[in-house]
Amino acid sequence: MTATPATLQALRRALDAGEVSSSELVEAALARAEATRATLNAFIGLRPEPARAAAAEADARRARGEGRGPLDGLPVAIKDNMVQAGDPATCASRILEGFVAPYTATAVERLEAAGAIVVGRTNMDEFAMGSSTEHSTAGPTHNPWGPQRTAGGSSGGSAVAVAAGLVQGALGSDTGGSIRQPASFCGVVGLKPTYGRVSRWGLVAFASSLDQIGVFARSAADAAWLLEAIAGHDPKDSTSLPEPVPCYADALDGDVSGLVLGLPREYFVEEGVDPGVLSAVRSAVAELERGGAEVREVSLPHTHAAIATYYLLATAEASSNLARYAGVRYARPAEGSVGLTDMYQRTRSEGFGSEVKRRILLGTYVLSAGYYDAYYRKAQQVRTLLRRDFEQAFQNCDVIVTPTSPEVAFPLGSKTADPLRMYLSDVYTVSANLAGIPGVSIPCGFESGMPVGLQLLGRPLEEAALLRVADAYQRRTDFHLRPPPEPT
Ligand code: GLN
Repeated sequence: MTATPATLQALRRALDAGEVSSSELVEAALARAEATRATLNAFIGLRPEPARAAAAEADARRARGEGRGPLDGLPVAIKDNMVQAGDPATCASRILEGFVAPYTATAVERLEAAGAIVVGRTNMDEFAMGSSTEHSTAGPTHNPWGPQRTAGGSSGGSAVAVAAGLVQGALGSDTGGSIRQPASFCGVVGLKPTYGRVSRWGLVAFASSLDQIGVFARSAADAAWLLEAIAGHDPKDSTSLPEPVPCYADALDGDVSGLVLGLPREYFVEEGVDPGVLSAVRSAVAELERGGAEVREVSLPHTHAAIATYYLLATAEASSNLARYAGVRYARPAEGSVGLTDMYQRTRSEGFGSEVKRRILLGTYVLSAGYYDAYYRKAQQVRTLLRRDFEQAFQNCDVIVTPTSPEVAFPLGSKTADPLRMYLSDVYTVSANLAGIPGVSIPCGFESGMPVGLQLLGRPLEEAALLRVADAYQRRTDFHLRPPPEPT
C-alpha cells in the first residue's frame, strides 16, 4: 500500500462531503481487524453489533444536520483495561475471564458522547505490566513494520491498530511509558497527558499514582481532537484536575519560533542508546531549530535513579491494587478449592501470569515491615527529587526533547526471559509518570527500517505546547504519514 494513510481529519472531511458513511467506515475497520487477526493480533475483542448500531445513529444524525463535532461517526479502539458497560474487559489476564463490566469508563463515555464509535478492545500486556505486548492471554501483538518485532507495550494493540490503519484513533494507558514507547515502536503519535488531566474512572488500576489514560493517533492534530474529547474534571475521580480544558486544536499554528527546547544531558549519552536512534532525534531537533526554536542543554541529574524508583513504587502499588482479584469480588473462584485460603491461592496462582506474579511479589516485599523504610519510603523521596529536576529544567526551557526509547522495536521473544532488560526499555519514559508531567512520542525517522520516536515532555497541563511542537514538526516532515507495509 502506498497511498497516504487516512487521518481522523481526512475521514471527517470525507464524511462531511458525503463521500463515505460512518457505517462504511465501521465495516471497513471491523473487516481490517478481522483480516489482520493472525498477522497483527491487535484486538482482544471486537464489538460489531454495538458499533454498527452506533454508526447507523451517527449517519442519521449527520443526515439531520445534528452532528456532534469532529469525532462524530469515526471508529476508534480502546485498550482492554478500560471498562464499557455490558462488555468484557480482560486486561489480557485469565483472572478476568468471564467478567462483564457493569459501567463505562469516563474517558470512553466522553468519546462516545462526542460520537466516536468504539469498534473493539485492543491487546496489551497483562494488567499493563510490560513493554512488549507479549505477556497477554491473547498472544503477542506483531509490529506492522516488522512482523517478528514487538509492538512495544503495554498498549501495543492500540499502537498497532492505528499504525496499520485499522482505526485512526485509540485510547491507551501509560503508567511508565505504555503509550509513548509502543507509539515510538509503531511509528504513530502517542500522548500521555498530565496526571489527573483525564479521569481514571473505569481504568483498571495498576499503579494508581502513575496511571494515566491517553491517546494514539497518526497526527498531532488528530491527537488534539481525541484529547480534547476525553480530558477534564470528573467528580468520580478525586485525582482528576479541575482546570478547564483548552481547545487544543487552536494551539496548532505551526509556530515554534522563540520556543526553547531543552535537551537533557543525561539522555543523550552514547552508551546504552542505539546510535541510529540518537541521530534521528538530533535531526528532528535540527528541523525544529530551522523552524525557529531555540535549543539549550538542560540537566535532569537524578535520571539514573528513575528506573529503580519506578519499579519500587509501581510494584508496591500494584501489589495492593491487585489484591482484589481473589475469587470473591473479582475473578471466578478456582474449581475444587477447599476453604478460603486455598481458594485465594488457587484463584491467584491459576489466574495471574508470571510477570504479574513477579510484580506482586516484588511489591509485597517493598511494602513489608522490615523493608518499607529502605525501599518504599526511599523511593518516594527520590520521586520528589525527580520531580524537582523537571521543575528546575523547565525554568530554562519550555519543552524537553529526548528519544522515546533507547532502541527501535526489538525482536519478539528477545527479552521475555530477562525481565531486567525488559524494564530498561523504559529509561526515557518513567520519569514523566513519576513527576506527573505530560509527554508525547512522535515518529521522527527510521533505523534499520523500524520507526524511531521523538519524545517531548512539558510542564504540568501544557499538553497544548507539546501538540504545537509536534504539529509544527509534522508540517515540516512526513514520517507520520508513511504507512507500514501491508500485512500479508
Ligand atoms: N513498561 C512499564 C512497566 O512494565 C510501563 C507499563 C505501563 O506504562 N503500563 O511497568
